[in-house]
Amino acid sequence: MPRPLVATIDLDAMRHNLAVAKQRAGGARAWAVVKADGYGHGLLRAMRGFAGADGLALIEPDAALRLREAGWDKPILLLEGAFDADDMALAARHGFAVAVHGDEQIALLEGSRGEGAVDVYLKLNTGMNRLGFPPARARDAARRLRALPAVRRVSLMTHFANADDPENPRLPLATQLARFDAATAGLDGERSLANSAADLLRPDTARDWVRPGIMLYGGTPGGGSAASFGLRPAMTLTSEVIGLQDIGAGDAVGYGSAFVADRPMRIAVVACGYADGYPRHAPTGTPIVVGGRATRIVGRVSMDMLTADVTGMDGIGVGTPVTLWGEGMPIDDVAEAAGTIGYELMCALARRVRIVERG
Ligand SMILES: *Cc1c(COP(=O)(O)O)cnc(C)c1O
Repeated sequence: MPRPLVATIDLDAMRHNLAVAKQRAGGARAWAVVKADGYGHGLLRAMRGFAGADGLALIEPDAALRLREAGWDKPILLLEGAFDADDMALAARHGFAVAVHGDEQIALLEGSRGEGAVDVYLKLNTGMNRLGFPPARARDAARRLRALPAVRRVSLMTHFANADDPENPRLPLATQLARFDAATAGLDGERSLANSAADLLRPDTARDWVRPGIMLYGGTPGGGSAASFGLRPAMTLTSEVIGLQDIGAGDAVGYGSAFVADRPMRIAVVACGYADGYPRHAPTGTPIVVGGRATRIVGRVSMDMLTADVTGMDGIGVGTPVTLWGEGMPIDDVAEAAGTIGYELMCALARRVRIVERG
């Protein structure tokens, strides 16, 4: 018998969330972001769930090739562009659009020899200070790119640092927007600005293409619960109780005896640990659903198990179902308790977890 731990991936929820993203973005087209193995949901599963997207966007050139080989014939965008000349040739051969965020990537295009032309997304750094050209160089970079035989169309993009917190005083979203608009005024080309946070909170930034990621999987970047935006969890991680302990006041649970009962308690042992992707740093109090009822984990998460407080809960035994996150237990709530974000939990789902597909 396999371990009872299962990640159920709901393709229907993925389709639904894509429809929400597109509907919020008005008439904009959507790059469904499928980097990091579809945020842990599986690359080809994401491809099927987002079959209705206008294009798929990701980071990894090898994964882009797998999408083509699996039959995706609509646009593909490499969000960090080519990492070397081989990638640029691969992009030309398979029709991947590439972000161009620096002079080194322009040089790759200047040096490319007849593999065919690529569509380019010229990336501007409007304040995040990660990748991208300074706004003052937008015109010059666009002109250089347009002159190259290796370049077909030039689109314009930037990435928001604080779309989940648009009034952030260090860098308000409006500042990034104004820098982008000023730098690109009068330039030809389609625009792509919005990630999930912008799509959810500032849909006026949608422009020609949105780039939703986390929302498509039923998580949010902050600024409201997934349910409040009508999003459905695409990944539900469930397991079962595999053991129970009745302990007295003063007894401790797990490694380091980090949790000490202050009264008699019943502890359920759940088959899920950090080697499955559950965050080891999730503290006592992190929410979990056991037997359909909300409770909390107690003590340290170990490699293959964690422990939950089921004191006073009737009908809990070996085999009782447990939901770690997903339907009935928002992943964002678990992430928040653990001091991280839903993105990290999804992406960290371990290979040993059995996956069941639905929808
Ligand atoms: C990952 C990524 C996105 C999607 O971000 P979400 O917050 O998951 O919506 C959009 N654009 C770029 C450039 C990205 O790298």
